[in-house]
Amino acid sequence: MRRGGGGGGGHGGGIDDEDRVAHAQIPTSFGPELRACLRCRLVKTYDQFRENGCENCPFLEMDRENDSVVNCTTPNFTGFIPGCYTLAVSEELPEEYQGICQENNVMYVPPKRP
Ligand SMILES: [Zn+2]
Repeated sequence: MRRGGGGGGGHGGGIDDEDRVAHAQIPTSFGPELRACLRCRLVKTYDQFRENGCENCPFLEMDRENDSVVNCTTPNFTGFIPGCYTLAVSEELPEEYQGICQENNVMYVPPKRP
């Protein structure tokens, strides 16, 4: 995971570093490889999760473990805004990963049951 490189600057040149601000990535395509994070519902492509993990859930270590991408994201979600978050996922994060959330003091909200 890439970190913004210190920031701080202070060159006085007035060069804006706006691009360095850590935004969540926007999906590069909108095909069937799109997946939603089961914890925070961020939508990206499988490759983006695999390469960079989830910006909101680095503790899930998706960028290290391909299995984590498969386990912690789902292609089954409904309604989303590109570069944002899906409204609903139907699957729960596996218990194992819910435990990781707890260890990191991160709240996990499972999907509502009908
Ligand atoms: Zn996430």
